[in-house]
Amino acid sequence: MLKFTETLIPTLKEDPVEAQVVSHKLMVRAGLIRQLAAGIYTWLPMGLKVLRKVEHIVRQEMDRSGAQEVLMPAVQPAELWKESTRWEQYGKELLRIHDRHDRDFCFGPTHEEVITDLVRKNLQSYKQLPANFYQIQTKFRDEVRPRFGIMRGREFLMKDAYSFDLNVEGLDQSYERMFQAYKRIFQRCGLAFRPVEADTGSIGGASSHEFHVLADSGEDTIASCSACDYAANLEKATAAPAPAATAAEAAADMTRVETPTQKTIEEVASALNVSPAQCVKTLVWRDAESDAWFLLLLRGDHELNEVKATNIAGAMSFMPEPGDVASALGVQVGFLGPVGAENFPVDVRIIADHALKGAHNMVCGANEAGWHLRGVNWNRDLAAPEFADLRNVVEGDGCPRCEAGKLKLNRGIEVGHVFKLGTKYSEALNVSVLDENGRGVNPIMGCYGIGVSRIVAAAIEQNHDDNGIVWPINLAPAQVHVIILNPKEEAAALTAVDMARRLEHAGLEVLLDDRDERPGVKFKDADLLGLPVRLVVGGRSFKEDQVELKMRRAPEPIKLPKNDAVDYIT
Ligand code: ATP
Ligand code: MG
Ligand code: MG
Ligand code: MG
Repeated sequence: MLKFTETLIPTLKEDPVEAQVVSHKLMVRAGLIRQLAAGIYTWLPMGLKVLRKVEHIVRQEMDRSGAQEVLMPAVQPAELWKESTRWEQYGKELLRIHDRHDRDFCFGPTHEEVITDLVRKNLQSYKQLPANFYQIQTKFRDEVRPRFGIMRGREFLMKDAYSFDLNVEGLDQSYERMFQAYKRIFQRCGLAFRPVEADTGSIGGASSHEFHVLADSGEDTIASCSACDYAANLEKATAAPAPAATAAEAAADMTRVETPTQKTIEEVASALNVSPAQCVKTLVWRDAESDAWFLLLLRGDHELNEVKATNIAGAMSFMPEPGDVASALGVQVGFLGPVGAENFPVDVRIIADHALKGAHNMVCGANEAGWHLRGVNWNRDLAAPEFADLRNVVEGDGCPRCEAGKLKLNRGIEVGHVFKLGTKYSEALNVSVLDENGRGVNPIMGCYGIGVSRIVAAAIEQNHDDNGIVWPINLAPAQVHVIILNPKEEAAALTAVDMARRLEHAGLEVLLDDRDERPGVKFKDADLLGLPVRLVVGGRSFKEDQVELKMRRAPEPIKLPKNDAVDYIT
């Protein structure tokens, strides 16, 4: 059993000032994690127990799905990344290092190259396929804005799996198997989640799904239908087609604008097929020195307005209404629209959201087909900025699948991602296996990630109250929190230890609070730590041969005869 006096559980009364979201606050206050550097954390004993629980569930379900566990190196040679051309493409998120011989390496943000290299060297025949390899391992991504504690860390724990199949049908099966395994994993973690269609980026045609935990503090926005099971992230979501006359205009509106940062508002407006007066150019950037975010609005009338927002991220997470967010930013929603417009339909949260993700420049415009928002990503060190559509729907649009329901927007935390990769890496790295006819073919790949450490934070976002964490049973660091009310009451203390032992014997995990602290302190810490069952031994009830049992989710404790308590719980 874990004894409080022998375990490092440095609980805090106050919220840490730097924490913006509840999971970050509670993880620090409950003594689960401590920060070492920006986005880099130590897991303390109670936090690590939770992390291991998630890992255990993930490992069991991956094994059950037929994937094989491997453990690849965290440090990877640049040569492999040059073969896939990602050494040049990946940008600053890739932490590049070199050894004493001045050879280039990186700390792996993902492992497509390494696994593909392993397969090319060790698999020769179709008889060895299908194969799916997974690992649970530390990743490093030099995120532009590490925040929310371990939710967006720079060093974090990921489960990544990579499937290899001979043909497309095989890939479909591997993908489906992973999809089902993911559903089981998030269910077992006790999370309310939703799989949504996701953008496949440069690899068109193939499919991709993200798994989102629904939470207001989520950094992503997902659209889902009120009537059918259509759900997609905002990059991917579409609305039901517009009437024929305006559909053509909408198509014209999709024209690519190559370098919007260098264009005048008139040029942008003409590319978007809207009038300059209907155009708003939004620039958002971060001042590294003051750590403040700036929002610059360039209206169609060329008026420049600079607005300083000390913390867009905080505003985004806690202000449910666009109007609130706008006021937190020091702007009015109407102000974001064309001159005189009352209701600007593009949610300012979306702008801030995408800005934080690296789309530092956005252009909004409208024509008869509706409003459009587009962004450019400066984050990836691309020679020419990539100009992507950020958003095709707004709240209340018709569903593109059933056309009967309306789209609703929710915030989500991306905890998993499955992706049909195709032959991108097996071609780039020249992987060939012999098929049944002795012909060499490139295996078709899929990749499947889960944010193991992010799940811990996501679970807290969904399961907490004013007093602390309320762990889902399968993730709790231990199930029972036994409190010795006063260690000086010897008989009660002995009984508590004995009960803890019996609970353990019955297969439960127990934390024994054996500290010489005031009862109030112990109760507060118990609520903060959030174990599902609390058992208090001592005081007046003990003299009456009773103990107090309280479920973390229940409002009040109940009293039980002390001899029945263990049986009652087990
Ligand atoms: P995000 O959109 O949040 O940046 P991603 O799409 O870049 O995530 P993937 O490459 O799909 O991430 O990685 C697989 C999983 O790893 C994600 O679904 C997420 O749960 C987790 N993950 C990614 N980045 C981080 C991070 N910085 N901190 C913690 N977990 C992360
Ligand atoms: Mg990312
Ligand atoms: Mg993502
Ligand atoms: Mg992803």
